Amino acid sequence: MAFSQKLINEAKEKAAFKCCRCQSIGIEVHHIIPQEDKGPDIFNNAAPLCPNCHTWFGANRTKQKEITQMRDWWYKKVEQLYSPNIVNYELLSDINTKVEALASNQDKALVDLKETLLKVATETINQMTAGTASSTATGIANASIASPSPSPSFPSPEEIEAAGDQWIQSQIDIERGK
Ligand SMILES: [Zn+2]
Repeated sequence: MAFSQKLINEAKEKAAFKCCRCQSIGIEVHHIIPQEDKGPDIFNNAAPLCPNCHTWFGANRTKQKEITQMRDWWYKKVEQLYSPNIVNYELLSDINTKVEALASNQDKALVDLKETLLKVATETINQMTAGTASSTATGIANASIASPSPSPSFPSPEEIEAAGDQWIQSQIDIERGK
């Protein structure tokens, strides 16, 4: 047996077409308890996962509880994040199918996906106001700065010492009424 198409659609929509573990789009609905272990074809045994997470978690029987918890958490998160009125399920479903196809049918799927993304991007750009255009432009400008942001580091002992000297000097200056 397998999940019914109705159940698959329901699970995908409830997850906003995103993997319940990593939130990538391009998901399939997997059995938490596998079919070979007589896992039933019911909603509670279904988890929306991307191929990566399915490889990582799917065959690992010790992870079944974790997947169930992540799925329930993500379903709840989607309810909080997106009101049903603002989710374009048709578009998400279309993108999901095209991302899934990337794995098997690279060239054509990539062209298809790029066309869809370009259409969405154009629509989004056309709807921009001055404010959103400006913040998007800032985001793109920041993303185009290639170097990764420097990781915060503690000052070196020399820097601490130099700062300490400055502080002592400033205290002396205050004392002297400078
Ligand atoms: Zn994933």
